[in-house]
Amino acid sequence: MTKAWSILPEEWKPILAERGLRPFRADQILHSLYRDYISNWDDATTLPKDFRETLQAEFPITAFEVIEAKESADGTKKLLVGFSDGQCVETVLIPAAGRFTQCISTQVGCAMGCAFCASGSAGVVRSLSADEIVAEYMAGRAYGEITNIVVMGMGEPFANYDETLRALRLINAGKGPNLGARHITISTCGVVPGIERLASEGIQFELSVSLHAPDDELRSSLMPVNRKWPLDALLGACAAYTKATKRVITFEYTVIAGVNDSRACAEALARQVRRVPQAKVNLIPLSPVRHRPDFKTPDERTMLMFLDVLMKNRVQTMLRRSRGKDADAACGQLRLRRLQEIEATG
Ligand code: SAH
Repeated sequence: MTKAWSILPEEWKPILAERGLRPFRADQILHSLYRDYISNWDDATTLPKDFRETLQAEFPITAFEVIEAKESADGTKKLLVGFSDGQCVETVLIPAAGRFTQCISTQVGCAMGCAFCASGSAGVVRSLSADEIVAEYMAGRAYGEITNIVVMGMGEPFANYDETLRALRLINAGKGPNLGARHITISTCGVVPGIERLASEGIQFELSVSLHAPDDELRSSLMPVNRKWPLDALLGACAAYTKATKRVITFEYTVIAGVNDSRACAEALARQVRRVPQAKVNLIPLSPVRHRPDFKTPDERTMLMFLDVLMKNRVQTMLRRSRGKDADAACGQLRLRRLQEIEATG
């Protein structure tokens, strides 16, 4: 059984032809799914009743439930989206001037084990299928028109490459939700084969790479993935990506007080980043996580010093604010808290 939300627009026509159905039905299907945003084939009233029943039986629309919706003081909304096997993921909606950005998850939990990340602190349960990733988008869409997607929720997108790319291609499709590729950002912790594959896709998605440390020793201590793909391999793949696609890479750098926030770190970071033509840096203050009380958010002065060093070294840098702090916005925190509550109440 194939889920309706995993089928790319151009894939409907052969499906219909196999069943002796006329090609114009594909447009009706797509209109129902991605203009009317039906959640049940019964609501696709342009289609004949017996055909709706066929679709229901062979291409069901993924069932999901918004288990919890939490709004923080700054307007950020965090949804916990549950699927039929009882697993759930987080998606965050972030309003800003002229934008409505959705942060989506690609896995339940995460296997990468970055020291400062709540999502990875309990390992990975499973990857999401493409239709489940689309379901997150549908859950978010109910709150307003999404203008941007960042794949920065739970999970490592390149550890679930095929399903993630299928979902993003579908959301990007002109006859689908039609969200522009340049409004979709994929963030990886540094899975080099994923970066290489993305370079060959011929698609304009934005790429972010989580760096968080300027040398192998520190990076391996924070991000186990660095032992498999150390900085030379990672930055080499990033430079090749930029060369092949002419797309600018953004490096994410989460600043942790007393860990990676020294002037020497900033200077070393600038040298590393300059190995990738035109690359930019986003500096993010750490969001505190429960499992690592020793990791603290740096003060404002440290953030500004770090920014200043990078700028003086001709690296284009943005200071990012954490949003939705009071809604457990650090990636993976809401799901973890819920798991803990469920455990506590038996
Ligand atoms: N696996 C992907 C995408 C998910 S995480 C990746 O690693 O890029 C999205 C971003 O949030 C990453 O840059 C990640 O390192 C960062 N992050 C995770 N936990 C954080 C925390 N507690 N504070 C600040 N940033 C965090």
